[in-house]
Amino acid sequence: MEIKIAQPSGFCFGVKRSIDMVEKAVKDGKKNIQIFGPIVHNPQQIKVLEEKGIKMVNSIDEIQPGTLFIRAHGISPQVYEELKKKNVEIIDATCPFVNVEQNYAKKLYEEGYQVIIIGEKNHPEALGAQGYAPGSLIIGSVEEAKNLKEVPKIGAVVQTTLEPEEVAKIVAELFHKAKEVRVYNTICQSTKMRQPAAKQLAQEVDLMIVVGGKNSGNTRRLAEVSSRIKTTYHIETAAELKKEWFKGVKKVGISAGASTPDFIINEVVEAIKKIDKEMSKEKSKKKK
Ligand code: SF4
Repeated sequence: MEIKIAQPSGFCFGVKRSIDMVEKAVKDGKKNIQIFGPIVHNPQQIKVLEEKGIKMVNSIDEIQPGTLFIRAHGISPQVYEELKKKNVEIIDATCPFVNVEQNYAKKLYEEGYQVIIIGEKNHPEALGAQGYAPGSLIIGSVEEAKNLKEVPKIGAVVQTTLEPEEVAKIVAELFHKAKEVRVYNTICQSTKMRQPAAKQLAQEVDLMIVVGGKNSGNTRRLAEVSSRIKTTYHIETAAELKKEWFKGVKKVGISAGASTPDFIINEVVEAIKKIDKEMSKEKSKKKK
C-alpha cells in the first residue's frame, strides 16, 4: 500500500511559533508557565506540554503568579485588560495572521461599519476578534446571514481557517443586507495551502485519513472537504485505525490539521505500514 502525505500537513506557522515561544520560556527558566486556554486543539500535544510542567488555565480566576501565554488564537482587548490585573508576565503568542484579522475588525468598526466576523460562534479566535469591534456579530452560516437586519454598510473579516467556498456563500448573502459591503479576506496562508492540498490528494488516492483533534475546527474542515471527494476517516491517534478500512486500498492519503504534531502523524504512518504488512501476510497465507 502506498502512503502519501498532503503537503502541508501538521503544525502551521502560527502554532509552531507559539509552541517554540513556550519552549523557549521553559529553557529561559520562566516560573510557573501557564497558557490561557489550550495552546492547540490537540489533546496529545497538550499532554506533552503538561508533562513539562506547563499548565493550561481556562479562566481568569485560575491564573497564579508567574508567566502567562496568550495562545495563537488571540484574545479580545477587554480580556487582555483583565489579564493585566493579575500578577503575571504576559507573553503574547497570538498568530500574526490573527492580528491582521483583529486589526481589520477594529478599522472597520472605527470607520462606522456594522462589523461581521464570518466564523464559528464559539471559536476563541472569532470571539477574540469580536472584541476589537464592539457591537460586531459572528456569522457562521448562510442562514444566519439571511437573518441579519439591513444596515447602510457592512464590513466583514473572516476567521483564518475557514473554507473560501463556504465564506463566499455567506458574503453573497451580505450583499442583500447593505448598499456598501467591504470584506477583508483574512483566511491565512496556511489554510489557503492546506485545504487545496487535501482536496488534491483525495483525488489521487483510494482512502483518506485526516489526523487531528476532534475539537480542532480546521481539522474537521479538512475532513469535510476530503470526504466530499473520497471516503475519509478523521482520527486523533493511530489507535483509532481499523484494519477493515484498508481492504482493497492501494493508495492511502494522510492530511493533518494545523494543530497536529509531527509525532502523531509519524505514529499513524507506522501503524498503517503495520496494518499493510499484516494484510499482506494474511493474503499469502490464504494463497497457500
Ligand atoms: S491556522 Fe493560520 S492563523 Fe491560525 S495559527 Fe495557524 S497560521 Fe496562524
